[in-house]
Amino acid sequence: MESRRVGILGGGQLGRMVQEAASRLNISLTILDEPVDSPAKQLNANQPHIHGSFRDPVKIRELAESVDVITVEIEHVDTRVLHELEASGKSVHPSPATITLIQDKYLQKQHLAKYGIPLADSLDCSDQEAIERAAQEFGYPFMLKAKTMAYDGRGNYVVSSMADLKDARSKLAPDVPLYAERWAKFDRELAVMVVRSITGEVSSYPVVETVHKNNICHLVFAPAQVGRGLTGTSDETFSTSIQERARRVAENAIASLSGAGVFGVEMFLMQDGSILLNEIAPRPHNSGHYTIEACYTSQYENHLRAILGLPLGSTEMKVEAAGMLNILGAGENTYLACEEAYRLRGATTHLYGKKECKAGRKMGHITIVGDSMQEVHTRLLPLVMAIDPSDK
Ligand code: ATP
Ligand code: MG
Ligand code: MG
Repeated sequence: MESRRVGILGGGQLGRMVQEAASRLNISLTILDEPVDSPAKQLNANQPHIHGSFRDPVKIRELAESVDVITVEIEHVDTRVLHELEASGKSVHPSPATITLIQDKYLQKQHLAKYGIPLADSLDCSDQEAIERAAQEFGYPFMLKAKTMAYDGRGNYVVSSMADLKDARSKLAPDVPLYAERWAKFDRELAVMVVRSITGEVSSYPVVETVHKNNICHLVFAPAQVGRGLTGTSDETFSTSIQERARRVAENAIASLSGAGVFGVEMFLMQDGSILLNEIAPRPHNSGHYTIEACYTSQYENHLRAILGLPLGSTEMKVEAAGMLNILGAGENTYLACEEAYRLRGATTHLYGKKECKAGRKMGHITIVGDSMQEVHTRLLPLVMAIDPSDK
């Protein structure tokens, strides 16, 4: 039915789940990534994929020749060539301008500030003096962040005291430019997936709560149970107003960016109930894995619909509640939760086919659905305990 071909930069787990959605819709997906260990290419190995780096202009041009639309599953790509391709009339989504802006977290924040999006204060840190100025301005702790190439918190360093100041620079990659951020004393972390089609149609998924462990997303709960514990009340209206504000912040932020596709918007819910935006991902996002089982149309399918100008599917949940647990590399204990999940009603296991299991590497995830959040919690507990018996 669909004859247009989509090319994607990156063939990791997000690309794999885009491929799953593409297969159902007869959409041909050509993937550019290294030949070894590509979770996405494994699903459609007969396709003439491009083997190489998504940072290599020659390979990106080669991909462009064989597809009608180019998209990304990772933002750390060569954008110069994407600009060039866009200028020559090739359809690239989200727009190269958006990917370029998001690649630099500091530029991203300066851009969002211009549009009135609430953010933690930040300061450029080009040298040691600037880091010390940040300490004076923000106090301790504060966050020193790599502007570029950051993921899973690997570009972040918490400066906890004056003693940390001197060595702070050396804790992060030597050549990467840095900026500092005021510490966000958040109550919880929230995320919203927003999808915008090339037709201009916009829709957002429910607000979810993300729980991080060692800077890596550990758990996601959908919809977020906000309001509870924040003011000592579980007042429904209060919770609804947080959900509405979070969705509005996310949608306003995406409205300031060009191009189509899904965007993951990470936010902090502060202790006073205010919301700060943390960062945006211009692609499907870990916090949206749950949409495969829990929403009428997954983030992966809606991403394809958006960049091809097909009608967007409903972003609403079709179950009352869902939870998602990431399976991170942990040696021989990596798959303990998956073994539990086979015995569990409402659990769906996704493994990514990664050959090498490094510590902390995202190897898979499990989504749990239920008739209430209480039920999801009850079902999730043995899985979480299988990974870490001290976790309750
Ligand atoms: P991702 O894998 O989501 O791209 P990343 O490497 O870009 O992660 P951030 O999202 O900037 O990193 O930060 C990772 C986590 O660190 C956040 O989810 C949050 O838990 C914590 N964090 C980030 N910035 C701050 C801040 N200013 N104050 C307090 N905690 C923060
Ligand atoms: Mg990030
Ligand atoms: Mg993040």
